[in-house]
Amino acid sequence: MTQTATRLPQLGDWDSLDELAELQDAQLPELLTWAGRSPFYRSRFGTAAPPRDRSDLSALPLTSKQDLRNNYPFGMLAVPQRRLATYHESSGTAGTPTPSYYTAEDWVDLAERYARKWVGISDSDVFLVRTPYALMITGHLAHAAARLHGATVVPGDNRSLAMPYSRVVRVLHALGVTLTWSMPTETLLWAAAAKAAGLRPGPDFPALRALFVGGEPLGPARKRRIGEIWQVPVVEEYGSTETGSLAGECPSGRLHLWADRAIFEVYHPDTGRVTADGAGQLVVTPLFREAMPLLRYNLEDDVEISYAGCGCGWTLPTVRVLGRSAFGYQVVGRTVTQARLEDLVFGLPVQHEVLFWRARAEQGRLQVEIEVPAGQRDAACRALTASIRSTWDIPCEVTGTSEGTLVPGHVLTTMPDVVKPRSLFGPGEDWGKALLYY
Ligand code: AMP
Ligand code: MG
Ligand code: ZN
Repeated sequence: MTQTATRLPQLGDWDSLDELAELQDAQLPELLTWAGRSPFYRSRFGTAAPPRDRSDLSALPLTSKQDLRNNYPFGMLAVPQRRLATYHESSGTAGTPTPSYYTAEDWVDLAERYARKWVGISDSDVFLVRTPYALMITGHLAHAAARLHGATVVPGDNRSLAMPYSRVVRVLHALGVTLTWSMPTETLLWAAAAKAAGLRPGPDFPALRALFVGGEPLGPARKRRIGEIWQVPVVEEYGSTETGSLAGECPSGRLHLWADRAIFEVYHPDTGRVTADGAGQLVVTPLFREAMPLLRYNLEDDVEISYAGCGCGWTLPTVRVLGRSAFGYQVVGRTVTQARLEDLVFGLPVQHEVLFWRARAEQGRLQVEIEVPAGQRDAACRALTASIRSTWDIPCEVTGTSEGTLVPGHVLTTMPDVVKPRSLFGPGEDWGKALLYY
């Protein structure tokens, strides 16, 4: 049986958490059959009776990132390789890659999950994709979701030299981009680049409807500030290359897990226990992927899952993604986290115009730099120093630097030539770019 025979659940197909669990249970036997076709799970299942239902699933050990790496590239493959539509690798792994691959049918589930945005995506949208296309899934995911709903896609990979910030601003403005997909930090860089181009984020981009953001932790203060600057809703998304979209934001501003398309659990590394909710590492079993089934995959993201109701009325669990932002550094015995510090920086009044900051936790003090216009510098530094002191009561040094220090002006304004390789040059021409043309 191939996945085309399977009807994917849609939002509204269930009315209660019990019905949601029934949807999961209904798909599990097919998923477990698919899994048994991959060399990795075939050997993990061994010669005993293959797993068939939820209690069998619960008895299986977790699948780790290391399992994926050990089985690079195709040890998890459960379909003939000719059925694969795409191959991806996760970001940030310097050593052995973490592979993931999908069939065309798997892609229907992926695109639909990403497309679940409360602001909607339609054929009147112009959708700028500003996440990587190379190896990772993120650019392709948004691209496919936008295409699925008929939007005009503008591919604008944030890691491509062909798309510097000046081009992003031109495209946002001239094309009347209505929706964007990027990391939250990107939207702040666009704001600075827009200002450098003489444009006001917000008023000079009237077509913009919403910013879709994900890929890095985003605290409430920074989220609010981004919305304030661009004057549109900021809609968050949580996912990974190994799984696609796992959660999306509801109109009440909370992240809900797509529990009709995957089973979620929480692993507690200190006790080794696995629970349905609470705080710990996220474990996910995607229900509708045939090429590379994953059973109880430990994403190693620190999260907190809750089944308490949400004002939006979606019958789906909520998740708080703490990620690495929960990690802290010690400064004179107090734990300083990026999440808390970010909230203080973006808690500064908007008039201070602080978009960029960095900090270093040293043993005896916290060193913070903020980019801030000269006229706002003293007030901004004083306010931030006070809020850091009242939060942690630690020695800190807050320095206000001029604009262009943390994000150099040329990064926001240069428009490099995009040329092709050329071997014959004229007299006096720079032939340094003959083969290294990029
Ligand atoms: P990648 O596997 O390279 O696609 O990156 C996925 C990782 O990015 C996740 O496992 C999380 O650690 C992080 N991430 C993605 N979305 C969010 C989010 N909304 N909040 C916090 N961290 C996120
Ligand atoms: Mg990853
Ligand atoms: Zn909600």
